[in-house]
Amino acid sequence: MRGRDILVPMPVTMDTLVSLCKRRGFIFQSSEIYGGTGSCYDYGPLGVELKQNIKRLLWRDFVQSRADMVGIDASILMHPTVWKASGHLDHFTDPMVDCRECKLRFRADDVDTLPWTHYCPATKGNKFTIPPGEPCSHCGARRTLCPDCGKGLLTAPRQFNLMFKTFMGPVEEDASVAYLRPETAQAMFVNFDNVLQSMRMKLPFGIAQAGRSFRNEITPGNFIFRTREFEQMEIEYFVNPRDTVEGRPADEYWHDRWIADCMAWFQRYGLREENLKLREHDKDELSHYSKRTVDIDYRFPIGWSELMGIANRTDFDLKQHAKFSGKSLTYFDEERKEHVVPYVVEPAMGVDRALLAFMADAYVEEEVRGEKRVVLRFHPELAPVKVAVLPLLKKRDEIVRRARAIRADLAKQWRVVYDDTAAIGRLYRRQDEVGTPYCVTVDVQTVGDSEKGEVGDGKVTIRDRDSMEQARVPIDALPAVFHDLLSGGVWAQVTARFERQIEK
Ligand SMILES: [Zn+2]
Ligand SMILES: [Zn+2]
Repeated sequence: MRGRDILVPMPVTMDTLVSLCKRRGFIFQSSEIYGGTGSCYDYGPLGVELKQNIKRLLWRDFVQSRADMVGIDASILMHPTVWKASGHLDHFTDPMVDCRECKLRFRADDVDTLPWTHYCPATKGNKFTIPPGEPCSHCGARRTLCPDCGKGLLTAPRQFNLMFKTFMGPVEEDASVAYLRPETAQAMFVNFDNVLQSMRMKLPFGIAQAGRSFRNEITPGNFIFRTREFEQMEIEYFVNPRDTVEGRPADEYWHDRWIADCMAWFQRYGLREENLKLREHDKDELSHYSKRTVDIDYRFPIGWSELMGIANRTDFDLKQHAKFSGKSLTYFDEERKEHVVPYVVEPAMGVDRALLAFMADAYVEEEVRGEKRVVLRFHPELAPVKVAVLPLLKKRDEIVRRARAIRADLAKQWRVVYDDTAAIGRLYRRQDEVGTPYCVTVDVQTVGDSEKGEVGDGKVTIRDRDSMEQARVPIDALPAVFHDLLSGGVWAQVTARFERQIEK
């Protein structure tokens, strides 16, 4: 860590992240060449790797590794009655107001959280932009008109359903209306009996799903924090409400377990404890069917906001779908010889939001020997690229050939890139900026010089992103060394048997 100072205090700003994401191929605005689509984003070559890593780790840690979990992958288009039963058709609404002049639409609750435009009568109608909720410092007036144009009256609030509507089949009529799902959860309830019977599940057990959801948000924003199309990972964990665990009702016990497990998961992959906190929903904030809801909030660049919610939804959903479908959605309790409707605990996470949190937490600016170094300190399992193979001299064919061969070999197991488009110092910084944990450098020593009759030593230099230390490792040891490093091994231990030095 010698000679390195953290330059930028946390948290990083959203502008810094947005610009890094675009410049380095993580996230682009959707349809950018046409001026963009409202609050939609495209994941670029590095973004897609990062997002897939997040989903893969979620699936591995919460589904594959647990005997009490299974997964499904359901259709986005579901039977319209699903949304009647779930309450989304009637209640998934936001009150909104429209400006009668400029026609802009706002969430009623948001109008006074925006800076507002004011033509001040006390200063001959001069135009001012006034901070949210504050009065004009000249005339003392408060906002009553449209915050954006400062001229139009706002309509009374009207309820606006957030589901995207479309039509199934060739006829656009009421009977063929369908909705893009606003959450993935309902498919787990609708498939409860299919999963129960086909997999012979015993309570408690959970069903997980990762996939796209759609919400026609009136005021999306803050980059990928709130978008109209997003990816969710939801778990519905069913418990027998008559059971007790450690002297507590099973649903309450499992609710706390899931809160703790999810909190630990975020920390395991790099979110710092001081940037995470639990937020208990107040009684008046709870949905009528929810017994208790706890959010995991993260200190995003925009301030503390929800990263994930974990709700105890009781037996509401299964009962609703039983009622609307006429099918029994119960579980036979062998011990008590009776049918019960399970309670469900629902951990629900936005994958895009998690990605934003992991990026914000990983971002560091340091000073190294008088120069700025930007590093994304991703956990190796999250890093989009695991290893970059770099030739020290691209004019030497043998070095380039050897470097390309190493890349091809390691790429059988991991995402590994080759880059020879700049000098080595520059190449290292580029990899630091996208969070690549390790670089491999092939140099003259590796390959020797056949014209001079010198034989190479067959070793390459591995360079560690965080400590900037280097170790000289035989090429044939690379797969084993990276296996250890990328599955949680500590640099100093894994490389202890090799010759080490600090980056020159
Ligand atoms: Zn207006
Ligand atoms: Zn004024």
